[in-house]
Amino acid sequence: MKINKLSLALAASLTLVACQEQTPAPTKKAEPVMPQVAEKKAEAEKTAPSRFDIYAPFTLTADLSHLSDNQKKMIGLLIDASKIMDDLFWLQAYGPKDSLLSGLDDSKVKQFADINYGPWDRLDGDKPFIDKFPHKPLGAQFYPEDMTKEEYEKWQKENENLLKQDKFAELYSVMERGKDDQLIMVPYNKKYAEQLSKAAALLQEAAELADNKEFKRYLSMRADALLSNDYQASDFAWMDMKTNPIEVVIGPIETYEDLLFGYRSAFESYVLIKDLAWSEKLSKFAAFLPELQKGLPVEQKYKSEMPGTDADLNAYDVVYYAGHSNAGSKTIAINLPNDEEVQLEKGTRRLQLKNAMRAKFDKILVPISKQLIAEDQQKFITFDAFFGNTMFHEVAHGLGIKNTINGKGVVRTALKETASALEEGKADILGLYMITKLFEKGEMTEGKLMDNYVTFLAGIFRSVRFGASSAHGKANMMRFNFFKEKGAFKVDPDTGRYRVDFNQMTVAMNELSNLLLTIQGNGDYEAAKALLEEKGVIKDDLKAELDKLAAANIPVDIVFEQGKEILGLK
Ligand code: ZN
Repeated sequence: MKINKLSLALAASLTLVACQEQTPAPTKKAEPVMPQVAEKKAEAEKTAPSRFDIYAPFTLTADLSHLSDNQKKMIGLLIDASKIMDDLFWLQAYGPKDSLLSGLDDSKVKQFADINYGPWDRLDGDKPFIDKFPHKPLGAQFYPEDMTKEEYEKWQKENENLLKQDKFAELYSVMERGKDDQLIMVPYNKKYAEQLSKAAALLQEAAELADNKEFKRYLSMRADALLSNDYQASDFAWMDMKTNPIEVVIGPIETYEDLLFGYRSAFESYVLIKDLAWSEKLSKFAAFLPELQKGLPVEQKYKSEMPGTDADLNAYDVVYYAGHSNAGSKTIAINLPNDEEVQLEKGTRRLQLKNAMRAKFDKILVPISKQLIAEDQQKFITFDAFFGNTMFHEVAHGLGIKNTINGKGVVRTALKETASALEEGKADILGLYMITKLFEKGEMTEGKLMDNYVTFLAGIFRSVRFGASSAHGKANMMRFNFFKEKGAFKVDPDTGRYRVDFNQMTVAMNELSNLLLTIQGNGDYEAAKALLEEKGVIKDDLKAELDKLAAANIPVDIVFEQGKEILGLK
């Protein structure tokens, strides 16, 4: 989102909110352990066979008919470069891909290892699912396996000046042991010189085929960045692109894989085709933000901030995921760049990944609805409503309040560890509020508001499955319990299925919006904590519904079938 100068620091910190659906980090802290290379043929152990079926396959395609031959060739090159990111991410997460996969006979275990980029189950706290492997090291392969936190912190102190001079040094390097076993820092462009120079050459080749001037410039600068280890200029260039129909996000980007410190970035890639029609709709709706802000169901003092209207928010179809973005749970929305200096000057871009959302809708949300939603209300479960609810969640982060009204500073700081769950909960409910208002104003005409409401309810069941260690999971548990108390839905006594009560849902939506905005505005940490402790939990009724979903073998996430052949490219 583009931001005005006043809220610069705020916006920068807000982007840390985990909007993407991320694998929750394991909560157990463990000392780093030595991963062993399996000497014997590895076998799956103690893993329920059904665990290997939690990912439903989905074929990633997109309409390429409007693209020129050069553009199609370019996509092929971008996919080739992405495959290198994939290999590099394997090295960061585990080690050489083949060294693990070639030792596995069982095709299901092999596929599961492929999805997880290693022998650890990413959706089960990185528990090993292959015999012989200990727990995954928290620092993955970013640090020597026998290094302790204390040892690294000592190294940081000794190298304070160096780290001050280059604030990206840790983001783009690995730690190794040198002579006398002391720690040394090796930058990515040295460590992975061979792979990165191949990837850079592919990006340069793609740049030569690009017609769009800004895209050409970005590809070329990104290629340079892979070689120089200096990514900032290319991040600026990425934000300068506005009209390119093809998009690529590539390089070392997110730091979630480094669970020891969260310092070091993992290689990944997304190759994307812009959905021009939806992107236009989104910028149209963002223009209503100031008006909708005024109408929020809360006292005036909690809504006096002015939201920006020039959000850089676009919809895309993804044609290739690689590396970190393809590991375990699949992201359906991206918000980049992470570099705060670029954010301060240029804002951020939010990318909504439409076909990935379609995958989650078809493979997860629809089956959930078939189990849990009243039969006569199942017709209200639509992809457009699911897509709309997800999109408006993103836009709604811009509504509400960023600074407390009583001198407690920024909401995010005042609410401490409860801030993310409150902010995600706010975006969910105000997203629905925006949709309601846009329908009332006649600005939204496709579908019915009831579609959004019933699909919203089904979405709660999907999201609580992310668990309590995810801000999204907690926000959805809170909403389920709040909605239940307010009668937003009822359970049919004879079928046990859920039914939305349209009027009560509207009441509950307004009351929950009011409650969250008030807690945020007051920076009321105690109230936020109490709310999450009381309502951000899975109680017996919800537990029973989740057990039903597990028993029905409804997938938890998606695995993509993807590549040049699927797209009909050479
Ligand atoms: Zn969000």
